[in-house]
Amino acid sequence: MKKTTTNPASKLICDFFGHKYEVSKKVTSHVKEYTCKCCKKQLTTNSNGNLTELTPKYKEINIILEEIYTRRMIRLKSKTLSSSIY
Ligand SMILES: [Zn+2]
Repeated sequence: MKKTTTNPASKLICDFFGHKYEVSKKVTSHVKEYTCKCCKKQLTTNSNGNLTELTPKYKEINIILEEIYTRRMIRLKSKTLSSSIY
């Protein structure tokens, strides 16, 4: 596994005080990506609804999830639009 290089000092702070995660990307209404403001460690919501490390594999999954989600939202929108004509 490849590890991203991070500032060792900020990692020490995180180990001591805990990570400062903030939502970096909203994939779907349930799945979000989080990035630690301090050491840039990334987390994501997995299929069980738990937080897990954002690996390249999960990044790929999230891109696909986002695509499906956006497409579904567009379809839902056009559906409500056409039904409101009647
Ligand atoms: Zn951190």
